[in-house]
Amino acid sequence: MEKCIYKGEVLYAYQVLQNFDFEQEIRSCHALTCCDCGARVFFKHGKQRTECFAHYKREECKYGEYCRKQSNIFKHTQHELYTPLQRIAENHGFVLEEDVIIIHDHYTAFVLRSDSIKYAIDIIDTAATSAALEKRNRLYEAAGYQYLQITVDKNAESEPFSERDMAYFPVKYALNKSLNHTAVVIDKERKNWSIYILDKMDMSGLPDCFYDITDWYDYDALAMPISLFDLDIDTNGFFTVPSHKAYGDFCSYRRIQKENWLKEETARRERQRKQAEEARREAETRRQEYKRRLGELEEKRRQEAEIRQAAYEAAKQQARQAAEQKRQQRVADERSEIAQIHRATGTYIGSKIKGEYERFTLEELTSSKPGNWLREYTKEDFEQKTAELKEYKASAVKTMFAKLCYINSSEKTILIQFLDEIQGSDPESVRVIKYLMIRAGVN
Ligand SMILES: [Zn+2]
Repeated sequence: MEKCIYKGEVLYAYQVLQNFDFEQEIRSCHALTCCDCGARVFFKHGKQRTECFAHYKREECKYGEYCRKQSNIFKHTQHELYTPLQRIAENHGFVLEEDVIIIHDHYTAFVLRSDSIKYAIDIIDTAATSAALEKRNRLYEAAGYQYLQITVDKNAESEPFSERDMAYFPVKYALNKSLNHTAVVIDKERKNWSIYILDKMDMSGLPDCFYDITDWYDYDALAMPISLFDLDIDTNGFFTVPSHKAYGDFCSYRRIQKENWLKEETARRERQRKQAEEARREAETRRQEYKRRLGELEEKRRQEAEIRQAAYEAAKQQARQAAEQKRQQRVADERSEIAQIHRATGTYIGSKIKGEYERFTLEELTSSKPGNWLREYTKEDFEQKTAELKEYKASAVKTMFAKLCYINSSEKTILIQFLDEIQGSDPESVRVIKYLMIRAGVN
């Protein structure tokens, strides 16, 4: 235990060593009593262990129990802190006390108090739950104390680190809950001291992608070794002058980084915007070009189709003309052949049978009287039949002959007049018709 009662006053173990004669006096003193149970205690100090007081025998004593259960690192830490805290107390006019009961069932490792402010300083050397820390904080606050923690960690950080990745919760708690976002840490193995300070950066107005910048975002807590000679305290908690300065530099560096990043990000976005716009323009140009080419292609196809259609029509027309020419030629050939046969034989021509035309004399064609004839002929009909007669067709002869066999008086008048008209120009036809009239018995 760190303290006992000697002559009605609190005596701290470290005070014993300050003067050899006093140490000798205390070592042989039988008037030291426990501040909790009042039992007699004695002063212990050897090569291996730091100075302390102890009960002569195990007592039912909470303070004794508390001191027995302390780990070596806890004792070491409390011992190491005494001198710097004493210096702080002297410089600032505080009273320093150790192992003080402020909250029920708990010894506060150090208390620094003045008329205006009181600090309760705990040493946290095992994993404390957030609930326990929060409860203590509340109780200290209710008792009018500001709560500070000295934290023992397995591996103290030596360089800036990410507070979010920090595994040991009490350190996180100190970084976030203390007024100056500061944790004072001792490394459990190496026993060296560090200070951590969290940069509670202003995150407002930062886009989400900002968190991709690991340097800036991850390393939000400054960590640096300190000497306890530099340890000091102000209304916000612990600090050292070098850490104070380093933290200022750290924050400036981060602020500049952030500003640079924001500048770069703004520029990057502007570039992206321009690129997107450019891409959009290019796409539009390509689209227009595609449309134009498509239009051209369609126009070309349409023209080709028109040309093909025209060629097809022309070919069709040509074929039609050729067929017509052929037909006309055939008709002309036929007429020519019929005329030739007629000239040679005086016969009229019927159907072509096995390559030979049937041939009939006028006498043969008028040898028998045909059946009844119903339709009345006009002058045009006679003209028509006369034209057919000039082509030496047997059928024309038969038709004319049939008409004549059944001709009425008005038809006869028309016919006689018609024959008079063509007498000069076509005596041959007149002669043939007159022969048919005779054969039909027309007077
Ligand atoms: Zn006791």
